[in-house]
Amino acid sequence: MRLTRYTDLALRAVMRLAVMDGEELLTTRQIADGMNVPYTHMTKAIAHLQHLGVIEARRGRNGGLSLTPAGRRTGVGELVRALEGDREVVTCEGEQACPLAGACRLRHALRRAQDAFYASLDHLTVDDLVASPTGPVLLALGGPPG
Ligand code: SF4
Repeated sequence: MRLTRYTDLALRAVMRLAVMDGEELLTTRQIADGMNVPYTHMTKAIAHLQHLGVIEARRGRNGGLSLTPAGRRTGVGELVRALEGDREVVTCEGEQACPLAGACRLRHALRRAQDAFYASLDHLTVDDLVASPTGPVLLALGGPPG
């Protein structure tokens, strides 16, 4: 199974914020530049993560982004599910719909495989993703605004 680029860059933002101590905030620009992602793409992902309650924004001169406590404890499978939405691993419907779309055993099997994929990520939290060796690399990408 392949994740969308959108999901991957949202996860990069989450990991980048997960190594911050909660007092230090980062801007969207800093996250985008540090994680090698176009700023406009990162803006959309950050807005989605805020909507999911994973990230919060503090306004003002020294404002910026941080993970919420709930976001830090979120299961990676749950987060990936939310970011990917209802997308299936194959395109059965749409303009050139497959004639089997309503009664396909393969489609059913692929849905089960997709669920198993997400479930395999459920034992990991966001915090788990930034243990060594990932965390030190993220910290070396640069500090908070100031
Ligand atoms: S064969 Fe089944 S899984 Fe493949 S496109 Fe058709 S409905 Fe979907």
